[in-house]
Amino acid sequence: MKSMMKYLVVLCLFSFISEGFAMESETLSAKQTAIVPIASFTASGDVQKLKQALNEGLDAGLTINEIKEVLVQLYAYAGFPRCLNALGALTETLEARRNNGITDEAGREAGPFPPAGRTSLELGAETQTALVGAPVRGGLMDFAPAVDQFLKAHLFGDIFGRDNLDWQSREIATVSALASIPGVESQLRSHMNISMNIGITPGQLRKITATLGDKVDADIGHTARTVLDSILGTSNSDIADGVIFPRGPENAEYAQYFVGTSYLTMLTTTDVPIGNVTFEPGCRNNWHIHHKGGQILLVTGGRGWYQEEGKPAQELHAGDVVNIPAGVKHWHGAAEDSWFVHLAVSVPAEGASTEWCEPVSDAVYSTLK
Ligand code: MN
Repeated sequence: MKSMMKYLVVLCLFSFISEGFAMESETLSAKQTAIVPIASFTASGDVQKLKQALNEGLDAGLTINEIKEVLVQLYAYAGFPRCLNALGALTETLEARRNNGITDEAGREAGPFPPAGRTSLELGAETQTALVGAPVRGGLMDFAPAVDQFLKAHLFGDIFGRDNLDWQSREIATVSALASIPGVESQLRSHMNISMNIGITPGQLRKITATLGDKVDADIGHTARTVLDSILGTSNSDIADGVIFPRGPENAEYAQYFVGTSYLTMLTTTDVPIGNVTFEPGCRNNWHIHHKGGQILLVTGGRGWYQEEGKPAQELHAGDVVNIPAGVKHWHGAAEDSWFVHLAVSVPAEGASTEWCEPVSDAVYSTLK
């Protein structure tokens, strides 16, 4: 009995740890999420929406000094005028909250920088190298040495060296701000790469782009996601050319059971049939049922959806695995704005067959974003 209990405790602990890990890798905390609209509206200068975002950030548990630090960080990316306007919005927001009886936590001030015996330039050059993954030199840095010096000593030294906001939060703010400034896709791309160098996962970057789309502006979210897709090799053009396995010809045989254009290559047809199925943006198959033997989907690229009847649709990305039991009515296909590709493994069974039903209506499909 005792050993059984021990086994259960270990089992529970294990599932807790693995769940915790999955959450850490795919989601942002409430505080991290709140930084996204604060940074975006600071950069775009929309003070009214910024005040709303500041309220939500304070409600989510950001301290006054953490928010102040996000705005300090952003003066380097959006300029002093936007930074000063945002600091003004913060003081007004805090005063309004005080008048409503809300007490916000001040949080920690930044410690002294640089530490004795080190210079901002030395420390900043080290930080820049750690963030970017290699020393930054040559090109524009040689052409304008003053900019090289200011970037290293001031931005990556004095600002990144302030210890009351961690690097990940600084990068979440920077990515969100750059996504909201027209014409700086190349810097946005650099900071998405820096984010991944310091442990922000692709899934978390996707959450940033989704939050920009939901909380700020659909076009800004879309632009940010396009840049991210191009970094991850999951851009539409990458997928249209075939991910891992060849895309193959248009899926004429099953076209009557699909909305939109799909492509099919059978990779093996003996014993366990496996097909590589590619969907153009907006393409999905009809509701259908695999009888006797189920189906396993192994997602290799793009963004798509899987839905079982009576359940919410589930968003899919490369690396996702869907185990579809026999007899369950479902559909799968691309997101409205993304190519999507998965391997479809048919689980062999005596007398297995597929029953095709009605198309997924636009009313259902158009609600999926
Ligand atoms: Mn299926």
